[in-house]
Amino acid sequence: MAASETVICIGCPLGCRVVVSLDKKGNVTRIKGAQCKQGERYVLKELREPVRTLTTTVRTMDDAYPLLPVRTTRPVLKTLMADIMRETVGVRVKPPVRCGKVIIADVAGSGADLAATTDWKG
Ligand code: SF4
Repeated sequence: MAASETVICIGCPLGCRVVVSLDKKGNVTRIKGAQCKQGERYVLKELREPVRTLTTTVRTMDDAYPLLPVRTTRPVLKTLMADIMRETVGVRVKPPVRCGKVIIADVAGSGADLAATTDWKG
């Protein structure tokens, strides 16, 4: 059965609503609603291999400052988000931390590092 998917393009503030038609095998047969090629490329990537930058916190060893904000150093596959969060469970960070310090390298095999987004002198 043929189907269609609707994706809001975030390539610019216009936020075009793009409808992608797929055949029975999942091949793209038509793209409608994108106002530029960049948007079409974004939507096709979003359907096939969606990625996001993950922002979260990890625990510290300081009760007065229990959570350190971190983020992935580049967008990672959405399918890896749960694995990345599981890797943060046992982490306990000690000061001092400089913004950008790698807390977990190649987190969940994503190819991205999980890095601090703030300085923490402790
Ligand atoms: S399709 Fe093009 S014009 Fe529309 S939101 Fe995406 S980047 Fe902007």
